[in-house]
Amino acid sequence: MEHIYLDNAATTPVKPEVLDAMIPYFTQNFGNPSSVYKIAQINKKAVDESRETIAKALGAQTNEIFFTSGGTEADNWAIKGIAEAHKAKGNHIITTKIEHHAVLHTCEFLEKHGYEVTYLDVNEDGLIDLNELESAIKDTTILISVMYANNEIGTIQPIAEIGAIAKKHNVYFHTDAVQAVGQVKIDVKEQNIDLLSLSGHKINGPKGIGILYIRRGLKLENLIHGGAQERGRRAGTENVAGIVGLAKAMELTYTNFDAKIEKLTKLRDKLIDGLLATIPYAKLNGHRTMRLPNNANISVEFVEGESLLLLLDMNGIAASSGSACTSGSLDPSHVLLALGLPHEKAHGSIRFTFGEMNTEEQVDFVLEKMPQIVDRMRQMSPLYEDFLKQKQDK
Ligand code: PLP
Repeated sequence: MEHIYLDNAATTPVKPEVLDAMIPYFTQNFGNPSSVYKIAQINKKAVDESRETIAKALGAQTNEIFFTSGGTEADNWAIKGIAEAHKAKGNHIITTKIEHHAVLHTCEFLEKHGYEVTYLDVNEDGLIDLNELESAIKDTTILISVMYANNEIGTIQPIAEIGAIAKKHNVYFHTDAVQAVGQVKIDVKEQNIDLLSLSGHKINGPKGIGILYIRRGLKLENLIHGGAQERGRRAGTENVAGIVGLAKAMELTYTNFDAKIEKLTKLRDKLIDGLLATIPYAKLNGHRTMRLPNNANISVEFVEGESLLLLLDMNGIAASSGSACTSGSLDPSHVLLALGLPHEKAHGSIRFTFGEMNTEEQVDFVLEKMPQIVDRMRQMSPLYEDFLKQKQDK
């Protein structure tokens, strides 16, 4: 049976070119970049060059890129770092109800330590209201943290407009771009982004490596204390192989970018249109056009997302019923609830996310299997039976 992997928002496979670039840094180039001898200096050079590649892809300067252990650390650092460094100015942070837990739980932690957090609502498409954002800003506001694109529903926020509002009010702007990188073009200067988080494993790079972009001159408290690595701002011996792999992945994800986006968008739209046409009482979650080119998230009434996932898995299809971090718990997704979906619809939601390896034939296969599986599940659903009876009686 062919395995069809449609969960690229959870993680992606490392590209062979990325792995090839990394391997020498596990074996012959094993030196510590902080050491002075030649074999270590090769590693220092590799780290510097990687930083340059990543900076270029984001429209940043090389000295504005700081390596972290991934998106979670970058989010924690941005938010806790601003909170600590700017507490003399104020204690208020603005974020949204649909952030990743790396942001939400960090904000909740800060609330326990005297900070005040405003969690903005989103509309039914998952977009924040810019007027609401602007009116939430007060004298004590020190940070706006709004994700670039949502990991569950794929909605892309108006980042440049948010950046402009933050700049106008002299408030720092952090964006979690973990899902957006490689799917949209980013320019931190044009978009007035002060801090940006990204992660290697969502762009066919390795796990456990990411970056925080920190605008030059911005005062940010350190999160990880220790040695003087990363110019004294993030301690710990550099993950050289990971850094090299991240830079290679970054370079590749923006090579032939337009053709890649066209392909992903075509696969996405074929799946969305096909599912909505063949499955009654199904609905797309997230904005129809302001969404990641690789994300299709559908609510299917009268089915349970987790069971749907298992049946898809039995057919060789890997998808997700929420974000990887929330699966395993039976609570409905906080993102879907924020869109206004009732619990039962939030429970019946499924996310397919494409990667460069996916094909149209694979979409055809899902389009053949999904309606059959949903139909079978509904046959066994007392809720669906009741619904049909009520419909007949009307
Ligand atoms: N932010 C978003 C939007 C994500 O989707 C994820 C991963 O799922 C993260 C942060 C966390 O990144 P990492 O897995 O590199 O810690």
